[in-house]
Amino acid sequence: MNFKELHLIEPILKALESEGYTSPTPIQEQAIPDVLKGKDLLGCAQTGTGKTAAFAIPILQNLFLQRNHEVENNNIKALILTPTRELAIQIDESFAAYGKHTGIRHAVIFGGVSQFHQTNQLRQGIDVLIATPGRLLDLISQRFISLQYIKMFVLDEADRMLDMGFINDVKKIIARLPVKRQTLFFSATMPPEISKLSSSILTNPVRVEV
Ligand code: AMP
Repeated sequence: MNFKELHLIEPILKALESEGYTSPTPIQEQAIPDVLKGKDLLGCAQTGTGKTAAFAIPILQNLFLQRNHEVENNNIKALILTPTRELAIQIDESFAAYGKHTGIRHAVIFGGVSQFHQTNQLRQGIDVLIATPGRLLDLISQRFISLQYIKMFVLDEADRMLDMGFINDVKKIIARLPVKRQTLFFSATMPPEISKLSSSILTNPVRVEV
């Protein structure tokens, strides 16, 4: 299996080639076709399996293809929620790498630093937002961010959100998302509370375990 067989568009194939990726990892092979079709996904996967590309590639491709049909606007269309600053930065770098020929705009926000640079980036208009829960809620309450136009939502490392005490913040964020959206849910383990959360926010999800 190679990336071409997953029906990826040329701007993304070119970027993957320059990253030196020759073939998809198992989670990418299993997840990308269904995510491209707009299905919800429940992924049991650890970091290191290539899960970031498994969601970043189809999100970039769908936004790129939709952009040709829509008037360009500055609404945030995809939200990636992740528990730590380090993960948020890594995910942002992945969007930069895989999306470098797509023109899809992305930004990352996390706590512990001044919000000045982050809000400046948001003001310029972005398509994909990568965020940690606390800073996201903070910037929503200051009205720098609206989640009203989100079409794709990724909850990354859901079990760590629970371990780190972020689960109520995560639920508050989910309550602000449009009901009609695509949801991708990733967790390395499935404790009961996480399993319950996943079934409450996913609709007929495709299950991928690696
Ligand atoms: P992740 O599990 O998303 O944190 O990815 C783990 C590492 O694998 C990252 O350094 C990626 O750059 C790399 N990677 C992801 N997909 C591929 C692939 N298809 N081929 C080679 N390396 C990859």
